[in-house]
Amino acid sequence: MSSSPGDSSLILQNTNQTYIKNSRDPPNFRTYQVLKRKRYLSRSESCEETDEDFILKITDSGIFYKDYSNKIKSWKYLIYRTNYNYQDFKKYKYISLKKNEIFKLFINDPGKETKKMLKLRKQLAFICFRKKDGSFDMNDGKVYKKSDLGKEEHTEDKIFDLLLDIYHEDKCCYSEIYIFTTNSPCLARPNHLPCMIQAVYIAIILYKKHGIKTTIAYLEPWGFSGSYENLLPECSIKDCIYHFESQKLGSKDIIHNSPQTATKTIEVDMALINPIYKQIIPEIENQTFPMEDSNKTKSKRPRPNLDLTQFCLKISEPKKRETFIKKLNEVKSDLFKKEDLDKTFGDFISHGLETFNKSMKKIYDLLIEIDYANIYEEIQEYLKSFFFPWWAGKVEDASSKFLKKQTSYFLQESAFLHSLIDIKDTEHFLDIGYLENFNI
Ligand SMILES: [Zn+2]
Repeated sequence: MSSSPGDSSLILQNTNQTYIKNSRDPPNFRTYQVLKRKRYLSRSESCEETDEDFILKITDSGIFYKDYSNKIKSWKYLIYRTNYNYQDFKKYKYISLKKNEIFKLFINDPGKETKKMLKLRKQLAFICFRKKDGSFDMNDGKVYKKSDLGKEEHTEDKIFDLLLDIYHEDKCCYSEIYIFTTNSPCLARPNHLPCMIQAVYIAIILYKKHGIKTTIAYLEPWGFSGSYENLLPECSIKDCIYHFESQKLGSKDIIHNSPQTATKTIEVDMALINPIYKQIIPEIENQTFPMEDSNKTKSKRPRPNLDLTQFCLKISEPKKRETFIKKLNEVKSDLFKKEDLDKTFGDFISHGLETFNKSMKKIYDLLIEIDYANIYEEIQEYLKSFFFPWWAGKVEDASSKFLKKQTSYFLQESAFLHSLIDIKDTEHFLDIGYLENFNI
């Protein structure tokens, strides 16, 4: 298959038609009702009939939510909803500047270890209270990390326990509660009430009984239940091999024939994700992305096995041959060296071309010196046939990884935004949003 310049859509088939046909049929989810026992919340399967999509639904008879813990099912549903109102996701919900300042005050307060964790975006949750007289209660603020948790426990669970205790008190001196969580509260949790549902439920009962308002801020959208990177199919943001056509490369098949170790992924149908990839590619094609190839990570595309003896045999003088072998090995390690790079797609292409040309110049200069310029072209053709497919493959792998990461982030953001739309009726006492301009 050959492709034309700049036509990245060639690698994405137009599947809008099939998509619209399938989208009338979003997957069905079980509905659960939230139950309040004495000291904790639980769930029971609900018989309540509902024909609309919702994360959480508040009716006179109680609070209901859908169980999105089946990852593939909820993923398909998410794409269905995301495609339906893509533009909505451009308007994201932020915590107001005033509240932003309050969170920053508390974020800057905890110890060094907490700061380090936040810098790395590690999950932690903390809570702080504002009293009815307007002052903040600095003693009751607590930070919960993963190391504080029992099996299957989420950091927010600790906070909910605390809040349920406050709820059960006869009187309460607080007017506002501020909750911070690195990742947004989860929307799906197998056999358990998701944190988001618990947060909303508790905010409702706290407001009803004590008049307390709740604000929840987060840094990363967790979506239903984390990243989709392992579910997303491979797709390069551009067809890389085209850019090397000037190097007289053959078809794209060369890339797929070049050595590649198998990776374990559960892939979701490409046809379903294509409309989302199509929206995201133009947004990210000029961004930089990493190509990680240091010794820590096992390369997906190992160095090809080159047979360089065939060229050495052409040089009869032992001394010249020795110099030549030395230089050729140097060039080989330069060409296929392991590096951690961070570049745009276009700069990766240029980097590959530059690396190759630099190495060829070295060989050419040497061959002139030892009077063997006649074998230059042969060597160049040989190295070209290994280097460019290898490099193009690496660029495409890295760009695919980046695309998957960005797409997953976008879908996680989208899932969370949907949940905010679904709970907008609680806005006068519950504020949930992204913490902007967060720097430590
Ligand atoms: Zn959770």
